[in-house]
Amino acid sequence: MFTSLTVREAVEKNRTKEQQQGGLQQTLLGYSPYTYTLRNTGPEDVFIKVICCGICHSDIHQIKNDLGMSNYPMVPGHEVVGEVIEVGSNVSKFKIGDTVGVGCIVGCCRNCRPCKSDKEQYCNKKIWSYNDIYTDGKPTQGGFAGSMVTDQKFVVHIPEGMAVEQAAPLLCAGVTVYSPLTHFGLKESGLRGGILGLGGVGHMGVKIAKAMGHHVTVISSSDKKREEALEDLRADDYVISSDATRMQEIADSLDYIIDTVPVFHPLEPYLSLLKLDGKEEDNNRKLHRSMKETEEVLEFCREKGLTSQIEVVKMDYINTAFERLEKNDVRYRFVVDVVGSKLDQ
Ligand SMILES: [Zn+2]
Ligand SMILES: [Zn+2]
Repeated sequence: MFTSLTVREAVEKNRTKEQQQGGLQQTLLGYSPYTYTLRNTGPEDVFIKVICCGICHSDIHQIKNDLGMSNYPMVPGHEVVGEVIEVGSNVSKFKIGDTVGVGCIVGCCRNCRPCKSDKEQYCNKKIWSYNDIYTDGKPTQGGFAGSMVTDQKFVVHIPEGMAVEQAAPLLCAGVTVYSPLTHFGLKESGLRGGILGLGGVGHMGVKIAKAMGHHVTVISSSDKKREEALEDLRADDYVISSDATRMQEIADSLDYIIDTVPVFHPLEPYLSLLKLDGKEEDNNRKLHRSMKETEEVLEFCREKGLTSQIEVVKMDYINTAFERLEKNDVRYRFVVDVVGSKLDQ
């Protein structure tokens, strides 16, 4: 099965230059069409025609080789929603025509302790949706593509009635904030939470925490997003982190803080905001996202009628979208309309 899609071309020259300049040099984010072969649909596999795919901030780190582990050509995308076109002989969970999702992980060992307790994200042999090597020795490729073949264990049902473009951001951003709240037992109403940073993940954090009935304080580095946080997202409070007086006022008041800032920063100033037994969740360093929680967050959002603020774009806009995402110029997540981008022509 051949499929054509869009990918950043490996530009060795640029990467070398980037490294020489300490990794700070901005490379041209160049995506171009790329054709490759998908594996045949195996007994456990689901063949999915991609409908849409969200753009996650971590895609930027991968395509720019920020972690020094990128391989090219690379097809990013781990907030994938599509339609089941074919199922393997052992697949019972899905049938042709189902609307399904694929998130960050597409493989694990199935035998270790994390795997056996539905926490496959901690498996040492987990396989990422892209920029990783699959069990057949071939690179994994993500959702900015016409189709994907994925093991049924790593495919979730999109709840009936949920818009596909709304489902996409839940598969990474949504579960990224939902998961720690579940993990630390912070789902009951009446809790006081802090959301650090208001990007794609942070805005989902506000929405999900509000839907749980929490009092939500957005903590941001500037005043820029105050109005949208309080009015559009209905956060209860907004505090600028450099405002010592306000920070002092809310000291010892929060049951948890979810840190969604995608760049490294010191945590000390925020720890004092927590109550004695409060929880601080740093999403840069933890990976609390299991398949089970992915299914849960989809169901939670369906039940609450929760939607995120997204901007739907076509594939030919992807380079601009990445540039804008880097500048924080999106409210709050791009979702690429893959099926409407007519990749096969
Ligand atoms: Zn992500
Ligand atoms: Zn395992």
